[in-house]
Amino acid sequence: EIDIRNVSLSFGSTEVLKGIDLKIEPGEFFAFLGPSGSGKSTLLRAIAGFGPTPKGEILLGEQDVVGTAPWKRNVGMVFQSYALWPHMSVARNVAFGLDERRVPKAETEKRVNAALEMVGMSQYADRYPSQLSGGQQQRVALARTIVVEPRVLLLDEPLSNLDANLRVQMRQDLLKLQRRLGITTIFVTHDQEEANTICDRIAVMADGVVQQVGRPDDVYDTPANAFVANFLGTAN
Ligand code: ATP
Ligand code: MG
Repeated sequence: EIDIRNVSLSFGSTEVLKGIDLKIEPGEFFAFLGPSGSGKSTLLRAIAGFGPTPKGEILLGEQDVVGTAPWKRNVGMVFQSYALWPHMSVARNVAFGLDERRVPKAETEKRVNAALEMVGMSQYADRYPSQLSGGQQQRVALARTIVVEPRVLLLDEPLSNLDANLRVQMRQDLLKLQRRLGITTIFVTHDQEEANTICDRIAVMADGVVQQVGRPDDVYDTPANAFVANFLGTAN
């Protein structure tokens, strides 16, 4: 579904992605782990089409999308610092992408309700973002992204603003939602337990390079190098 081939990207003279090769299967729930500054957000943004044009190829299905405008990629992304429109209600925020696509009003209403239902925010439809907690805003941001039914879902630390309890609950909800929709999903997190419990495979990144890819158990049991062992705290 997503085939990343020898992707490199620089800001000025600093190379922050260094020849990434990675294949993600249709319907897979995939996670990136790695220290701050390792290039996780940059890679996600490159897949979505934001930021500088990378070198290499990014295939979504059959099509190399490098150089293609973001809105032509059918990719939904929840950003690390998500932004809702402050002057629009929750329902209008979620409807925004459908309005842009000129989806008829009755259908829009149905899909907005369904999306808010999925993230447990139905009762907040008429509120404004400033009247919501950080975690509630994150859920609205998620609803806004899934409502357009993208073929690929990119989530950059979507649960980072939630308290510990809600985080555990939301990750189960997220997994159920992902399975129900069957959307190929890439998830960035600092939380190893989160990645282990909900993701099919993980990639550990450091310094713009993928250090190891595999099922969580396999990566833990057999770290490929000292960095991975150290990072996951499984040095053996
Ligand atoms: P975190 O876990 O803190 O979110 P990350 O793995 O997502 O980190 P990125 O945001 O991808 O890291 O950043 C990778 C590197 O690229 C960092 O060194 C960062 O300073 C640099 N970088 C990111 N965006 C820009 C930019 N717009 N201009 C210049 N440098 C940038
Ligand atoms: Mg980041």
